[in-house]
Order: sequence, then structure tokens, then C-alpha cells
Amino acid sequence: MSGELWGLTIHEAHARLTTREIGARELLESVEARIAAVEGEVHAYLTLCRETARAQADEADRRFRSGEGITPLTGVPIALKDNLCTNGVKTTCASKILEHFVPPYDATVVARLRSAGAVFVGKANMDEFAMGSSTENSAFGGTSNPWDRARIPGGSSGGSAAAVAADECLAALGSDTGGSIRQPAACCGVVGLKPTYGRVSRYGLIAFASSLDQIGPLTKDVTDSALMLNAIAGHDPNDSTSADVPRPDFTADGADVRGLRVGVPKEYFIPGMDRSVEAAVKAAIAALEREGAIPVEVSLPHTEYAVAVYYLLATAEASSNLARYDGVRYGHRAKAPRDLFDLYARSRAEGFGPEVKRRIMLGTYALSSGYYDAYYAKAQRVRTLIKQDFDRAFERVDVIATPTAPTPAFRAGEKTQDPLQMYLSDIFTISVNLAGVPALSLPCGFSPEGLPIGLQVIGKPFDEATVLRAGLAYERVTAWTATKPHIG
Ligand code: GLN
Repeated sequence: MSGELWGLTIHEAHARLTTREIGARELLESVEARIAAVEGEVHAYLTLCRETARAQADEADRRFRSGEGITPLTGVPIALKDNLCTNGVKTTCASKILEHFVPPYDATVVARLRSAGAVFVGKANMDEFAMGSSTENSAFGGTSNPWDRARIPGGSSGGSAAAVAADECLAALGSDTGGSIRQPAACCGVVGLKPTYGRVSRYGLIAFASSLDQIGPLTKDVTDSALMLNAIAGHDPNDSTSADVPRPDFTADGADVRGLRVGVPKEYFIPGMDRSVEAAVKAAIAALEREGAIPVEVSLPHTEYAVAVYYLLATAEASSNLARYDGVRYGHRAKAPRDLFDLYARSRAEGFGPEVKRRIMLGTYALSSGYYDAYYAKAQRVRTLIKQDFDRAFERVDVIATPTAPTPAFRAGEKTQDPLQMYLSDIFTISVNLAGVPALSLPCGFSPEGLPIGLQVIGKPFDEATVLRAGLAYERVTAWTATKPHIG
């Protein structure tokens, strides 16, 4: 580590803030200096919240002086994906249609971090409406991978992942509908957690596909992931799909994996897969075995249908969710419309980018009468089969280990002309959203070109604690999480 404050994890910073060896303002200024040094190359942020961040840091310092209201996140500089509503701060979803949208309220996760005393550094870049795997669908320009600036950071939470990897914040929030936290975490060599569907409130998360979307943390290590989840998890009366279940202390489970049964699904290790990914993930499973875990071969037989099912259901839900952008209530409005229909049509034509339009058309088609049963209803039934695959596997194992993504980060531009190739980036992450279960991605090695590779650890519903325990056990016996990109 560099020895600079921007290089700290949340728990390291907290230890030094509580003893008042460092101040929250000093920590923020270090992160600001880091942003000044590297943001020109990375472009992780769409908006920087300079003034409000300083006010939050000063407030955190007051808390440390008085000894009151201190939480593990007090004074910690955090980036927020730009689909999370922030009261008084522009929230664009990386779309022209919301380019000037300033929400009058905070998302529940934002409110929770705010009251915990966190400092919001800025709003992170993303694929427009979280649709994509490379952040190249942002209407405001892409983000570079801090490990290799010619490559994509993954997506859709690419700005959040790159900001963490480049030390432009201590941690970030992202959202994950089909892999958008885990795949960028893998591409950028950071830790990403998609919680169980319902674990974290989606209130104030701009909806993409409501039955799949979950908010989760991107962090520098597994302990920080648990700290972030502690702060954002829990029932919220404003989100009827948030689960009213007890929230354990996710830092309390330790790293003992003796006797832990680790399922290894044969469908996720296929001939022709990227050699370096296969080798790194198998080595990670072997490392867990040396710590006392027991690998067990399992089968998730409906895996091959996951991408098709996802692109029917996610587009169907998106076409309905995005109907609200009509140029009337908020967002972009076309100039001098001839009539109401022209207002709707042109506002949407001007405001949405090509991938969003493609999804709206696919989803509208899948939901149209005459095709509904053949596509949408059928996909819902296959979704149930995919979920049952996991139920069955989890009768025999405690967690499931797989690669997070089929390849390390690809080059910018490599897949932009071929949406189907792009969609396959999430082949290992999408089933997890369809089943609603939690999954963690953590660094498990590097490709020959020096690009990070991600290990995915999938858990039973609401059993993030075991997933984090396995992650922590692995992290402790490797050096991958601590390896940093050369930038700045
Ligand atoms: N890459 C997938 C998609 O484009 C997943 C995106 C996400 O998880 N938000 O839909």
C-alpha cells in the first residue's frame, strides 16, 4: 500500500479516525487529491459532490470530537452509483433523459449511509439505466479499467468498481440486475456483493427490472463488504419487496471454513472456457479446501437457459418501468411538439440511447398479446426451474463457487457492435438474480496480461453471512485483494 490515506480500507480508516490519529476532513482531502491525480484517466464519476462532501466530513469530525453518533462508516468517503437518488444532487442514470434530474429525496440506502455519517464523494458512472456490461452505454462517455486503460471496467456499475480500484473512494454502492456489481468487481479486482433479493431496500433506486434489481457494496476487501451491508440492509416500509427478516451483524462470522461444503457446478466449467479464469478459480477452490472446506460437485441443469430467460424478463420489466419517461412529469422534454403523441415519441427518441431502446422494444414485444404466453409466461416458468436448481444444490452444500465472468476485462469497443456477445458477459452471474440468492465476487488471481480474475461465491437466501465467511477465509490465504493497479 502507498501509505497515503486514500489507500485505506473502511476498517483501517475507522481505526485511525476513532483514535483521532487522522480526521475525516483530512481523509476526504486525500481522496480529493487522488481524484485530481487519476480521474482524468479513469472517468469513474459523473458528478463530484465537493461542497457537500466537505460539509459531511466536517460533521463527521464533530461526531468524533464529541464521541457521539460514531459508526464504522462515519467519515468514510463513498461513491454512489448514479441510479441511486440523492436529495439535491443530480441523478442521471447515465441517460440524457435524466441529464438534469435532481431528486427531492434520498434512496433508503443513501439515507442510511447519510445517517451513519458517511461522506458522499460523488455519483459514479454506469451503463445507461444499468443496461450493459462495460459502462460503454453511458450517455456521458465510458470509464477506463484502472488495470489497463484500453479496457472496460465491466458494467453496469463500472464507475463504482473503477473508483474503488483506483482508490478514488474507500467504497462504493452499485446495483446488480444480472451481474452489474459482481462482473465489474471481477474486472477491476475489487470485492462486490449482490445481497439476497429483498435484503436491501430498492426505494430510490431508479428501476431497471424490479424483480431482479438489488443494491450492494463494492469494496477493497471482504470485511468492508460486511460493514457496508450492515449499514444498508434491513426492512423498509417504503419497499414492499424488502424482507422483514432479522439483520445479523455480517462482520461477526469469522473465517473458519472447516467442514463448509463448497458446491462446484459442472455447468460453470466448460470446455473452451478461458484458461486463466478456469485455473484461478480452481486454485481458489483448492485453497478453500486446504482451509478445511469440502468441495462437492453439484449440477445446476437449467443454467443454459439463464441468459435467454433473463433477456425476456429483464426487458419486459424494463419496458414497463421506463414507460414513465414520457417528457411530461420529469426528465427530458422534446421542443415544440406537434401534439401529445409527438411529445412522447420525440422525448423518448431523443432521451434514450440505443441499448435502452433495444431493450424497450424487446420487452414490449415479449409482453404483447399473442406473444405473452410464448415468451414472458414461458420465461417465468423456466425461472422457477432455475431457482429450483439452486434449492436442490443447497440441500447438499453451504455455498457454491464459480467464476464471476467468463473472461477478464475485454478491450473497449470489442463488443459494442455485437450485443449478443456483450450479453454473454453475465453468463455466470445472471442465474443468481433469477433465483434471488446472494453472491460475492472477490479477486482470485490474474490473467497472463495482468488482468484481475473474479471468484464468485453464491449462498442460500439470506445467508450472506456464510458467503462472507468463505470470502474472508479465502482472502486471508491469498494476496490478491491487496494487489493494486499501477495508476497515478
Ligand atoms: N449486463 C446485464 C444487462 O445488461 C446486467 C446488468 C445489470 O446487472 N444491471 O442487463
